[in-house]
Amino acid sequence: MRAVTIHAPNDLRIDDVSAPEPGSPEFGPRDVKVRIGVGGICGSDLHYFQHGGFGAVRIREPMILGHEISGTVAAIGTEVSRVKVGDRIAVNPSVPCWGCVYCLEGKPNHCLDMRFYGSAMRFPHVQGAFREVLVAREEQCFVVPQSVDLTTAAFAEPLSVCLHAVKRAGPMIGKKVLVTGTGPIGALAVAAARRAGAQDIVATDVMDEPLEAAKKVGADQVINVAKSPERLKAYAANKGTFDIQIEASGNDRAIMAGLNTLRPGGILVQLGIGGDVALPISMIVAREIEIRGSFRFHEEFAWAVEFLSRGLIDTAPLLTEVISIDRAQQAFELAGDRTRAMKVQLSFE
Ligand code: ZN
Repeated sequence: MRAVTIHAPNDLRIDDVSAPEPGSPEFGPRDVKVRIGVGGICGSDLHYFQHGGFGAVRIREPMILGHEISGTVAAIGTEVSRVKVGDRIAVNPSVPCWGCVYCLEGKPNHCLDMRFYGSAMRFPHVQGAFREVLVAREEQCFVVPQSVDLTTAAFAEPLSVCLHAVKRAGPMIGKKVLVTGTGPIGALAVAAARRAGAQDIVATDVMDEPLEAAKKVGADQVINVAKSPERLKAYAANKGTFDIQIEASGNDRAIMAGLNTLRPGGILVQLGIGGDVALPISMIVAREIEIRGSFRFHEEFAWAVEFLSRGLIDTAPLLTEVISIDRAQQAFELAGDRTRAMKVQLSFE
């Protein structure tokens, strides 16, 4: 079976790998054999492709990439009841231990022993899901209706990340919301905030193309802060305008520019990951700003599947192209070009 594997920066290969077959001792009673349909290329996959990792996380052995996946159930273990052969599913790529203190508190996104597909955070690395066949656990599999395209179902994972960010922000109804950074995650945060009842959504980026996509999924105003920073600065008048900032860029200038526009009592939800930044403590104190991190997701995966299945959140405007794994290299190059691509998906069929 073919799998998209990163060996070193810019060294992406299609390797031949195997997976346990139903009936073998390695295939558990609650395991599900999934024929992968498509997989979305995420920012972290791109970091491995372009730089071999991010921060202190580095590839130390070949690793299959990918964690935004959907597919069709090909076989099930003897005790599986949640899915049946032929079901279309979105696959949750997080496999928490369910035994540590945070898992037992119902916070598996903070699991002490998390296995997340296609992650080099631990060694041996957790192999990813850009492969023709994947064996997942029953609880990772979420059925979507036959009418829902697998390309839509593969948005469940990034949408979950954004639903979690919106949940971290608290009540959204009637709020004025700023989203900084409109890559796929920022754009999906716009869509999630819209669905959650935000009154006004302003999105910022330093490029026009992703801003156009953000508009299509629900932003009321978009501002290219590289070209017209004064348009955002206007929102800083009278101690700020926005109730909530969802920060999806990890860029220190975006964090600062957004903070300046938050009203007293405003909430900054930090979703993007960047380096360490200096914060304006006196302003945060004087305006009683709250800063909340947002990391991964849990129950939101089921919500995302539901929203996508019922067409309540439309991700179609964010899908740039679906490219066969035979051309994985081109797909990754396209995904890395923000002037041409929002979400690029690999097709395994
Ligand atoms: Zn755990």
